[in-house]
Amino acid sequence: MKKYLLDEENIHYGDLILINRDHKLKQDKPVDLVPFSEEFSDVLLERKTMNALHSVLKKIGAKDNIVPVSGYRTKEEQENIFNTSLEEDGEEFTLKYVALPDTSEHQSGYAIDLGLKMDNIDFIRPSFPYYGICQKYREESLKYGFIERYHESKTAITKISKEEWHFRYIGYPHSVIMKENNFCLEEYIDYLKKFKYKENPLEYDGYLISYLPLGVIDELETDDNTLISGNNVDGFILTRKK
Ligand SMILES: [Zn+2]
Repeated sequence: MKKYLLDEENIHYGDLILINRDHKLKQDKPVDLVPFSEEFSDVLLERKTMNALHSVLKKIGAKDNIVPVSGYRTKEEQENIFNTSLEEDGEEFTLKYVALPDTSEHQSGYAIDLGLKMDNIDFIRPSFPYYGICQKYREESLKYGFIERYHESKTAITKISKEEWHFRYIGYPHSVIMKENNFCLEEYIDYLKKFKYKENPLEYDGYLISYLPLGVIDELETDDNTLISGNNVDGFILTRKK
């Protein structure tokens, strides 16, 4: 049993944190980061996210066809990418495809940009088409907790253009529930608020999912079957395996 503090700081940590222009990343504690491989030692991801990514690539046999283009970025790196894009590609392009510092999921370690292997891979917009091995990744990765974060149909909510190469780890079964309901992460985090802790949890595939706003309970005991994540907005999401 471990104690998990449901305090204001921990709202900003966990698989399910929502990061966007209205909900900036606020993390002071270091993230547990691991490199993709020796060849791609500069592509880092949060440990669970990296394990999940490797599991998907192995499952679909894509190790030689799919390349990790960009993973974890420090705030400084995000600033540099943003400023370079402004200079080279202009404001319209940059605001469409590059997130402002502290609003990028890449600073969390839970996001990965993937590209189809080719000679010249575009760093900001790698090719990751809706067919072949890339589509296979898209479908299979849902079972491992990944979502395609920025859909064409949700740009009014996410404020980011379609990015078919950008995947965010949120964990299973959240990824599948989101897909089945055609939610983007903003909508899903909001939807979960209906499922109050101990009152009416959402049941899915042997999991109980519930929401607990900040200020109701100070701490909870957790075990291997219970995962608590902040939502980076106003509370916590509990995911419990029955
Ligand atoms: Zn990205």
